[in-house]
Amino acid sequence: MSRHDHGHADGTERTFAALPPTRGRGFAVTWWGRAWLRALEDAALDAGQVKTGRRLARAGAVGAVSVRPGRITAVVQDRDGTGHRADVLLEELSAEQWNRFLEMAVERAGHVAALLDREMPPHLVEDAAAAGIELLPGMGDLEPECDCGAWDQCGHTAALCYQTARLLDEDPFVLLLMRGRGEHALLDDLQDRTSRPAEEPVEPEGVDAAEVWAAGGILPPLPDPPGLPEHPGLPPLWTPRHRPPRGSPRPPWSSWRPGPPWRRTGCWPRRCGRRLLRKRN
Ligand SMILES: [Zn+2]
Repeated sequence: MSRHDHGHADGTERTFAALPPTRGRGFAVTWWGRAWLRALEDAALDAGQVKTGRRLARAGAVGAVSVRPGRITAVVQDRDGTGHRADVLLEELSAEQWNRFLEMAVERAGHVAALLDREMPPHLVEDAAAAGIELLPGMGDLEPECDCGAWDQCGHTAALCYQTARLLDEDPFVLLLMRGRGEHALLDDLQDRTSRPAEEPVEPEGVDAAEVWAAGGILPPLPDPPGLPEHPGLPPLWTPRHRPPRGSPRPPWSSWRPGPPWRRTGCWPRRCGRRLLRKRN
C-alpha cells in the first residue's frame, strides 16, 4: 500500500493509491476496522447497496482515496466503467474535544505508543469515550454524498467505506485525521504538552516581605497565646512502646491528639500486650 501526504503543509490531507482487487478477504481485520464497517452496515437502509459496495471494493473499482478532516473522497467505477465521485462525511471533533483527548493521551503514554505501532488499543477508545469523545463512528454517523444522486448509502459510498476499512486496518491515524487532526500535528501537540510543565514559570512560594511590611499597619493585632495546661501532660511523641514511668498520670486519651484508633481508644496493640504479659510472668 502506497501513500503520500500532500495538499496541505500540515499533512491534513492524505491520499492513498487505489488498491488491487482482492479475493475472499475480510475488509476489516482489526476490531476498529470492523467497528467502522458496522457503522455502515447497521445504518444502511438497503442491504443490497452495501453488498454492491463490497463487491465493487473487492473488484478494485475504488480509485485513490483522499482523507481529510471530516471527509473521505474517491472516484468509484461502476461495472460499465462510469466513474462516480463518492464522499463519506464524518463529524470532526471540536477544538475543545481535541484538547480533552490530548490531555488524556498525555497521561497515558501507552496509548500514543500503541498508535505509533499502528494499533488502536480498546482502552484508548474507552478512555476517550469516558471523556465524552467518540472516536469510532456509531450507527448513522457515516454520511454519504454521491453524484449518482442516491440519498442514502449507494454502492459507491459503501465501496468507499469498505476500502477505507482496509486503510484503517493499516493505520488508525486515518481515523484521527477524519476526526480533524493529522498525525504530525497530533504528535507535535502531544510533544508540546509533555514538555510544558518544565517550561511553566515557577510561582515563588510564600508572601512578599515588602507587602507584608506595608500591610502591617492595617492588620489586626495577633491573638493572645493559648494558656498553659493545668497539669503537665505527656509529650506528644510518647508511644506505648516507650511506656511512661510507673505511676505517671494516664494521658487524657479522648482529648489527647489524633492518632491510630487503638491509640485514641486507649487499647494496647496486641504486640505490646504480649510483652506486658511476658513481663508479668
Ligand atoms: Zn453513488
